[in-house]
Amino acid sequence: MSGVYRHIAQHFIMQDCWLCRGFSRGAMVCGFCRRAMRLCPQDTDRAMLAEECNLNALILRYRYSFPLDTLLKRYKYQGELILAKPLAALFPPPPFQQQPGMVLGVRPVLIPVPASVARIKQRGYDHLHLIAQHYAKRFQLELGYARRKQDSASQAKLGRRDRKRNLAEVFDVACPGKAVLILDDVITTGATISALAVRCRDQGAKWVGAVVLARAPAPNEVAVQ
Ligand SMILES: [Zn+2]
Repeated sequence: MSGVYRHIAQHFIMQDCWLCRGFSRGAMVCGFCRRAMRLCPQDTDRAMLAEECNLNALILRYRYSFPLDTLLKRYKYQGELILAKPLAALFPPPPFQQQPGMVLGVRPVLIPVPASVARIKQRGYDHLHLIAQHYAKRFQLELGYARRKQDSASQAKLGRRDRKRNLAEVFDVACPGKAVLILDDVITTGATISALAVRCRDQGAKWVGAVVLARAPAPNEVAVQ
């Protein structure tokens, strides 16, 4: 069997675990790897984070640790685009499943946090947009988009407060009268999501929530983890 066909067979017929290549009974990750994934606790800290980020709801699923970090790095930095769909399946469902298709009487629009133009050029794709396409289809959401007007690669060097201020003007988004559901892969300080949420409200959004795959500790929290 040639390399290409073996690759297809592994992923679509045998469906081996994407991480350890062990038998996974058709799932993306096997039971062993899945048990290694740590859920993010439902605590008051999360409610505070939602408030800090100017969000009506913040839905988080996992902690950013092994094996999820490995999967995301392979997808984002090693160009394994085939991971977009299985990763989208790991995201938590939207917070309004009880009212399918409507929030406050309007149809929610899914807006993935956009990558910078420089990042898109470097990688050749906007990694969250690809995931959002699968997520929107799965939950029947309208897919919207935001644009990052300038490269914010220097963000990492700024402090928390400066990052928020610097980011606020970066996003270009149109969502008048909409309920917006922001999609992001990893939340750390929440500065990016907060800035996009503020921008959505400035542009007329009625309700702004976020679904995030994983939470990473902020740099100043690492020491106490
Ligand atoms: Zn595995």
